[in-house]
Amino acid sequence: MQSICPFTGELLATHREITPSEVEAKILQADLAFQVWKQTSFSHRSQRMHRLREIILQKREVLALLMVKEMGKVLREALAEIDKCAWVCGYYADHAEEFLAHETVMTEAAESFVSFQPLGTILAVMPWNFPFWQVFRFLAPTLMAGNSALLKHASNVQGCATAIEQLVKEAGFPDHLFDNLAIGSARVRQVIAHPLVKAVTLTGSTPAGKSVAEAAGAHLKKSLLELGGSDPYLILEDADISEAARLCVASRLLNAGQSCIGAKRFIIADAVYEDFKALFVRGMEAANCGDPMDPATTIGPLARLDLRNELHQQVVSSVAQGAIVLLGGFIPEGKAACYPATVLENVLPGMAAYHEELFGPVAVLHRFRTLEEGIRLANDTVFGLGAGVFTADLDKGKLLAEKGLEAGCVFVNDFVKSDPRLPFGGIKESGYGRELAAFGIREFVNVKTVVVK
Ligand code: NAP
Repeated sequence: MQSICPFTGELLATHREITPSEVEAKILQADLAFQVWKQTSFSHRSQRMHRLREIILQKREVLALLMVKEMGKVLREALAEIDKCAWVCGYYADHAEEFLAHETVMTEAAESFVSFQPLGTILAVMPWNFPFWQVFRFLAPTLMAGNSALLKHASNVQGCATAIEQLVKEAGFPDHLFDNLAIGSARVRQVIAHPLVKAVTLTGSTPAGKSVAEAAGAHLKKSLLELGGSDPYLILEDADISEAARLCVASRLLNAGQSCIGAKRFIIADAVYEDFKALFVRGMEAANCGDPMDPATTIGPLARLDLRNELHQQVVSSVAQGAIVLLGGFIPEGKAACYPATVLENVLPGMAAYHEELFGPVAVLHRFRTLEEGIRLANDTVFGLGAGVFTADLDKGKLLAEKGLEAGCVFVNDFVKSDPRLPFGGIKESGYGRELAAFGIREFVNVKTVVVK
């Protein structure tokens, strides 16, 4: 497995895949660590988790630089990601006990209650786009619930994976409570099949999710899937158009457009279509792609050259079928995996840009004449992760958010962001299950009924 800087093309490191017997040893060790850890008190776990939070903050620059190098994230976004990891550690350190407290139920028995017990070793298969945050939002609740964990991180961010393993060790968690499995995706099935691995979570693409769900199903293991998205944003006639355009550009360009909850499709009321389009294209045009270390850079390179080339193919094939390029849409010269901010319109059913996730700085503009048409366009997707509505009428916005849009999270007059205090996840082919908040920590526990006569 290779770590290659997507801005310079430099080979940073080559990582050895561990052997099947090393995988077996790590699974056995994770189970042994679980047998002890599950007996510990919440206050003990909380102390360790707070220590982890402190160490993350102490090392924030070094950790952020790792991401800049391995996957091209701009430095200011990398620093913000590290701070968010510290936040989620502190959040679960403070709230896990309350989220997993017994729930008393009144029945005819002398006592009836629900107890939340850890399951054992949980496998996490994680993506490269937020190489720290995706792992920490799993790790913090999972360890606080009393489980142990194994990480199979994306092959191109093994430096980040090793750093996370090291941080957990330094925070004083028991040996092997959280270990990195340096293996390729072809070997994930074998790990899921192991009797000591009790459940699996995957954050990644829909095809990877289907494969993991199939393996988990074959062995009757619990699975949680956080997959792709093609998030629609409805811009209504009464919206503050310049604020909507500013926020939509920001969401589309975050992480160079490589965010599952990035705003991707903009569905605009006919009356304000031209005004929104002018402001949106101007905002996208102001974005420059370049050195992720340079504070003046808006978007860094995409994480890998092959991903940049795939994105360009989606644009090229859509244009061949009649989509119109308003901005960008070409491969810049040089060896950096850069892609310019790109805006398409006249995108119709049958085109890649209509149906597929565009995992880079490419936006699609649609026009609607009636609200019903707008809602139909927004929901005409296999995905259901995030969505947004911009309107001055908050009642209408709430109604659309709650009842109209098919998604796991809908924001009114803002773009979707993950937040430790709010449940996060999708419907349809964006996956199932929820991370974060009380919902997240209850995914990998046995919800146990206890009745005392
Ligand atoms: P990916 O190719 O699916 O890879 C994600 C992880 O799954 C990697 O560790 C990868 O390992 C592994 N993997 C790939 N194919 C697999 C298979 N058949 N069986 C088992 N494991 C497999 O996705 P990505 O390109 O890294 O990440 C981008 C995708 O993630 C986008 O679709 C994005 O929307 C989604 N995402 C979703 C969320 C969310 O919360 N819903 C958050 C972030 C990203 P290798 O690297 O070794 O191939």
